[in-house]
Amino acid sequence: MLIVPEREIADLMTREAAFDAVEGVFAAMASKDAYNFPVIREAIGHEDALYGFKGGFDKAGMTLGLKAGGYWPNNLEKHGHINHQSTIFLFDPDTGMVSAMVGGNLLTALRTAAASSVSIKHLARKDAKVMGMVGAGHQATFQLRAALEQRQFEKVIGWNYHPEMLPNIEKIANEAGLPFEAVELEGMREADVVISITSTFAPTIMADHIAPGTHIACMGTDTKGKQEVEAALLARATVFTDEVAQSVSIGEAQHAVAQGLIKESDVHQLGAVINGTDKGRASDDEITLFDGTGVGLQDLAVAASVVELAVQKGVAIDVDF
Ligand code: NAD
Repeated sequence: MLIVPEREIADLMTREAAFDAVEGVFAAMASKDAYNFPVIREAIGHEDALYGFKGGFDKAGMTLGLKAGGYWPNNLEKHGHINHQSTIFLFDPDTGMVSAMVGGNLLTALRTAAASSVSIKHLARKDAKVMGMVGAGHQATFQLRAALEQRQFEKVIGWNYHPEMLPNIEKIANEAGLPFEAVELEGMREADVVISITSTFAPTIMADHIAPGTHIACMGTDTKGKQEVEAALLARATVFTDEVAQSVSIGEAQHAVAQGLIKESDVHQLGAVINGTDKGRASDDEITLFDGTGVGLQDLAVAASVVELAVQKGVAIDVDF
């Protein structure tokens, strides 16, 4: 078994490699070459933690495995660790033997940022100029850095429930040479692309906060009960997702479907747009909404990619198991 420790990931994995791995696996999912297993995610009744497993099998890439981990909201304050903790395990599809154990924390951030970036590449208007961020926590910085590579943005605007965290994303905007402006939620109407990446259970983005023609990637809702945007926005938008089954059960679409505002069949797979079997954005006035729920196959794709790089660079630890 090969081990790629968390400390090695930053020097191995690039945003470009994560983007390619995620775009490829979304396409494979839509052409039914790869499928995700049902997600297990439990509130364990300790440290307010949510813990679970996401797995799948990609027959095209011959990648089988799972990510185990979750969200510990008190980690940073109490233990000095980031709130997300996860490890990815890969198995040999021919024998079922474990083949690799890979640190999943940075990879989770990179593959999640890659997912919204892939959605921006395929669904945002080409002339998008203003990038809007709702959220300024750990994931938000990765999201913004990756998103800014997808269009010729001229400005970043941001809102966060905890305004004192906004400098986290202001720094990323400035590093990319762009001005940053803190706005009220109503000010998000100026944005051509919006990413929401918060841990809220009550919607903060209302339908009238988003202007016609906007692409919004909702990345924070990955559990039953969480909700970042008003369900009415999904009824106004064309809804895309990584995985329809997850979108309607643990993603942002769970609420709009439960309220009868949209049907499961209204949710499009982003991979079909990548493959050219779904037309994607139909007009410049349309709101496109990507419900990024986070699938196990994304984790397996970036883990397989990083194992290859680790072997090439001689930093994978080989253990008998
Ligand atoms: P974090 O704890 O670093 O940041 C949390 C963010 O949510 C901050 O911006 C905070 O101000 C905001 N927030 C907290 N309470 C809020 C409230 N009541 N209303 C509005 N905003 C509130 O967390 P993170 O690591 O950045 O993760 C953010 C979210 O993304 C989590 O919900 C996490 O589960 C989710 N996530 C999704 C995926 C995916 O693939 N879709 C992957 C990783 C993380």
